[in-house]
Amino acid sequence: DRLVTAAADGEDQAVEAALRPKLLDEFIGQERVREQLSLVLQAARQRGTAPDHVLLSGPPGLGKTTLSMIIAAELNAPIRITSGPAIQHAGDLAAILSSLTEGEVLFLDEIHRMSRPAEEMLYMAMEDYRVDVIVGKGPGATAIPLELPPFTLVGATTRAGLLPPPLRDRFGFTGHMEFYAPAELERVVHRSAALLDVEIDPAGAAEIAGRSRGTPRIANRLLRRVRDYAQVKHDGVVDRAIAAQALQVYEVDARGLDRLDRAVLDALIRLFGGGPVGLSTLAVAVGEEAETVEEVAEPFLVREGLLARTPRGRIATPAAWQHLGLTPPVQTGP
Ligand code: ATP
Repeated sequence: DRLVTAAADGEDQAVEAALRPKLLDEFIGQERVREQLSLVLQAARQRGTAPDHVLLSGPPGLGKTTLSMIIAAELNAPIRITSGPAIQHAGDLAAILSSLTEGEVLFLDEIHRMSRPAEEMLYMAMEDYRVDVIVGKGPGATAIPLELPPFTLVGATTRAGLLPPPLRDRFGFTGHMEFYAPAELERVVHRSAALLDVEIDPAGAAEIAGRSRGTPRIANRLLRRVRDYAQVKHDGVVDRAIAAQALQVYEVDARGLDRLDRAVLDALIRLFGGGPVGLSTLAVAVGEEAETVEEVAEPFLVREGLLARTPRGRIATPAAWQHLGLTPPVQTGP
């Protein structure tokens, strides 16, 4: 239920389809991935063959699903969408693979969460467009080879490091998605505002972009909340002041921190003098589970250089003190 989470909620899923760029040229940012992908796709089109399998890696909400749909659209091919956790048995994968049509794009989200037997089946399918379906059990089991039409696998993962090397090696191209720069997010906000029929000025878009944690999904979500506020409290037009007021109501601050993030920094600084303090003590101080603090709040605070994890415990950096409007203590000693 956090406004600044990068994971998709129900409302996101309902509106995201309408906000998704459909072609590579409409896709904002990720210049390197876009350029590389554009070459891979053009070359495949010229040769009239299915392109190499593509792996997209990066944090949630940066556009992996969107890019996979763009790949299919650019190839003029249908797309099938599934995910690692949905494929528990090799048979599940065999059923999907054997029903693919020639040139189809298979999008496999969270590919690192597929079961081991399915993963092994995928190796052969990716390399030889073939799978061995095992029929029967024990000594009487037989492998029936099944030819597959050429297809393109687009795998997405938030954890490329977790993929077994034999799987990673079978992708001809890996695109590493990065967090978006503020200027890119401003373009995302402008584009989405136009699609949602929201009037917004550049300063309003910049205000939303700055609070979006480098993530288009969050930018789109904040824009929707700002739109509500502008419509209910004003005339619907979004400028900097309206965006800032709206996001203050939702407790998302100028840097994109929400209430939990700030509670963690606040406890660290006001109760423990900036640390170091152990994770479990810090969690008790903010009334949360240790896992929540560690997995929900800390990654962004660390990325922003506001909190550091050290062997002796968590510490608040001078930037954290400044962010809370406090003066960091003078460093003493070596
Ligand atoms: P997850 O892995 O959590 O599903 P994802 O990386 O697949 O996330 P998407 O679902 O593709 O992310 O993108 C989330 C939303 O952000 C989409 O609705 C899309 O409109 C928007 N978005 C993502 N990237 C871009 C972009 N480069 N330009 C414009 N909008 C974008």
